[in-house]
Amino acid sequence: MKNTYPYYYKDFTCIADKCPDTCCAGWQIVVDSESAGKYSCAGGEIGNKLRRSMAVDSDGDTVFVSQNGRCPFLLESNLCEIYTELGKESLCKTCTLFPRHITHLGSRKETGLSLSCPEAARLIFSSSEPISFETAEDGAMPEPNSIDPTLYFTLVKAQKTAINILQNRDFAIAQRLIAFVRFCDRVQQEIRAKKIADVAVAAEFFAPVPFSKVKAENTLKKCFETLECLEKLDVRWNAELESAKNITPEKSKEFRKILSESEWEAEHLAVYFTFRYFMTAAFDGKLAEKAKFTVLSVIACLILQAALPDFSQKSARIEAARRYSKEVEHSAENMAAVTLAIKKSRCFGSDNLINILSR
Ligand code: SF4
Repeated sequence: MKNTYPYYYKDFTCIADKCPDTCCAGWQIVVDSESAGKYSCAGGEIGNKLRRSMAVDSDGDTVFVSQNGRCPFLLESNLCEIYTELGKESLCKTCTLFPRHITHLGSRKETGLSLSCPEAARLIFSSSEPISFETAEDGAMPEPNSIDPTLYFTLVKAQKTAINILQNRDFAIAQRLIAFVRFCDRVQQEIRAKKIADVAVAAEFFAPVPFSKVKAENTLKKCFETLECLEKLDVRWNAELESAKNITPEKSKEFRKILSESEWEAEHLAVYFTFRYFMTAAFDGKLAEKAKFTVLSVIACLILQAALPDFSQKSARIEAARRYSKEVEHSAENMAAVTLAIKKSRCFGSDNLINILSR
């Protein structure tokens, strides 16, 4: 099977006890049935602890019941007890996979690293060069799928164009995001008409569009309301949102100056979300929703960054984006809530997102 991944993917190694924010705290680990079966038969004290620590949650998933927000196997040293006692091969699928994410597309897959992991975040922003992608055969057999081939080829072609738009450094990042939204809307129309999109990177997507400052403020308000209603994975989230809502015009001006000098970071964010979600439209045909989630996420990350006391530090800006990813992307409930808001609220229409980007 062909596997496409960003250039930094193969450089990832978990930094384990050196990690500033372990992935084994803040959420419950879902244990796959094969691992749960093995854990049920494990011997010794670790076997007893494995059996004691598993429970079925309200969704019917087997999980490790967290203790004070931490996985019960996360040692004081922040090393994993299952890994140290039983070896790497005994980890369940969730722990083996994280922070890798995979989109299976039948004969091909796309693999990346989740921004919520500090080491992955470091790699994603390790170079200001445009993020490039590699494709290699991984020896796995293609998987049966029910993806519509016309839709698939439309999306493959469109994803390349979308990333080219986002990486077109002849334009400011806000203009690129506007062109991206407009381009994805056009592709969505082609999908509805069941045609293979044949939309070149035309200058029309970069042409100026009228905007309304009032509508931009309303959309931002709705954006905060949506984020405030999410399940909280970290107690700091509300305070961070509160600061983001109260950025002074002076601070905003200062941040815009920093942003103009580091636009590649926002570009990398947009490319990260696009690579991660664009092709998932192959399963439901809803490309415009994925595009809006990308733009909304970039806007939210930039506002959270602007609220930081030390936003001139690159490491602080990356940490704010990483925390957004952890809060939003790593809770199925939160992703569903944001997706529903995008789908239902007129506030998240393309024209309103363009209003925010044009401010
Ligand atoms: S968040 Fe990333 S670096 Fe940290 S423990 Fe998890 S996989 Fe390792």
